[in-house]
Amino acid sequence: MSGMNRQGRETRGDALAEAPETISGNRALQLNEPLSFEIGSRTRTGVDLPEAELETSRLGGLARTEPMDVPGLSEPETMRHFTRLSRMNYAIDMGLFPLGSCTMKHNPRLNEKAARMKGFADIHPLQPQGTVQGALQLIVELADWLKALTGMPEVAMSPKAGAHGELCGMLAIRAAHEANGDPRKTVLVPESAHGTNPATAAFCGYDVDSIPATAEGRVDLEALKGKLGPHVAGIMITNPNTCGLFERDMIEICKAVHEAGGYVYCDGANFNAIVGKVRPGDLGIDAMHINLHKTFSTPHGGGGPGSGPVVFSSRLAPYAPLPFVRKASDGQYELIEEEQAASGSHGESFGRMVAFHGQMGMFVRALAYIKSHGADGLKQVAEDAVLNANYILRQLEGVLTAPFAGSGPCMHEALFSDAWMKGSGLSTLDVAKAMIDEGYHPMTMYFPLVVDGAMLVEPTETESKADLDQFIHVLRGLAAAVKDGETERFKGAPFYAPLRRLDETQAARKPRLTRMHDEAA
Ligand SMILES: *Cc1c(COP(=O)(O)O)cnc(C)c1O
Repeated sequence: MSGMNRQGRETRGDALAEAPETISGNRALQLNEPLSFEIGSRTRTGVDLPEAELETSRLGGLARTEPMDVPGLSEPETMRHFTRLSRMNYAIDMGLFPLGSCTMKHNPRLNEKAARMKGFADIHPLQPQGTVQGALQLIVELADWLKALTGMPEVAMSPKAGAHGELCGMLAIRAAHEANGDPRKTVLVPESAHGTNPATAAFCGYDVDSIPATAEGRVDLEALKGKLGPHVAGIMITNPNTCGLFERDMIEICKAVHEAGGYVYCDGANFNAIVGKVRPGDLGIDAMHINLHKTFSTPHGGGGPGSGPVVFSSRLAPYAPLPFVRKASDGQYELIEEEQAASGSHGESFGRMVAFHGQMGMFVRALAYIKSHGADGLKQVAEDAVLNANYILRQLEGVLTAPFAGSGPCMHEALFSDAWMKGSGLSTLDVAKAMIDEGYHPMTMYFPLVVDGAMLVEPTETESKADLDQFIHVLRGLAAAVKDGETERFKGAPFYAPLRRLDETQAARKPRLTRMHDEAA
């Protein structure tokens, strides 16, 4: 049945079922797109180069004997191929991207304009330092902001993502213990932690011991204290945590860990909820990464590389990695590359994380974002992100199950479990697939692990009330459909995506990442 949707537009309803199969296989603007190998062939080429006249080849036995197995496409064919593929994607510029923990906020165009300035975009990491003073100054200025916002005395700018920042922080903690002649074996990680936390600790050679959560979704302080001892190198803790709750006992947790001779690593991926409001340094944290691509709006996911600077307490500052930038007494900015040249901070550096200095383009975008908001604007970012998440929590708590709704307001994300659909034969995955049909990227699913069938919704501060209301309307409608037993709507979803439901297990376990040779044109 065709009808009207809430914007008064005619909906397709059953009209789609009656629609003829198209001759092309395309559906209006939704174009079918084969692989580039299926469009092009290796016997064609997009360019017309004269035969090279070589007397002797310098490749010797390394010269290729077979033609290169790449699809020959012309420039317009290549452009169309990738443009068509890009239109099958969902993006933050298309609509709400409620992926919890990921902070998919709008990327202001001002950031992009700044990042494209020649003095930032067209420089080389091996250029003489005298020719890139502005870029070095920008790194120092951003570093100063990060230190001020976190209340921490030192920062390493080079880590290239959150997980890379975790590694940086944990390597500094390991170096500090080793310098004390007391290499410890265990790192404590709460049950609700992002998978990168235990992975990082294990990568650094530590045993991981997990701390349970309380019924209200926070770290169990008594259980944590029970696990402390001379074998514990430290704790990795996320605040606000992945249940979207502020860890109220943070000061006491830090005190207890310090008294046991350990260090506190904070996963700062959720800093968006508290930026301008809380300084992690005041809570007693020793190291924390900041995802510039979350809190400070630089693009991520398919849209760009990340950047994960790590702030350090004065206890860990001597172990921070190289290189770093500082302002010398003559006002020049200099890049310190060698450990022996470092004094004070970085004096006992654990070494180097990356070949060069970090993600320059992300530094420019993050600083543009910070400066265009100012300190008061950043505080409002956190307040609006928390307001939006609480609006979603309260609008949906009577429809979905919100296991921690009784723990008070949430921070920047609202967590739901699948208890509300028990007995329906449907799962969180089915609801997520139905959201694709509704034109939304699904929320984060099955994370954190502390609730069954988790759905973690993070709207971010950049969504308007109208957009939040539309999203809530859709989720309420889907919840009603679950309760009405409209199983087909979910089991068959997505119906309208270019590809229907994928076999996710097969895709993860046996991904086909290369094209088979016998498929060659
Ligand atoms: C995103 C995230 C990470 C990892 O950050 P990347 O930049 O993706 O490496 C770690 N912990 C939490 C809680 C996160 O949300």
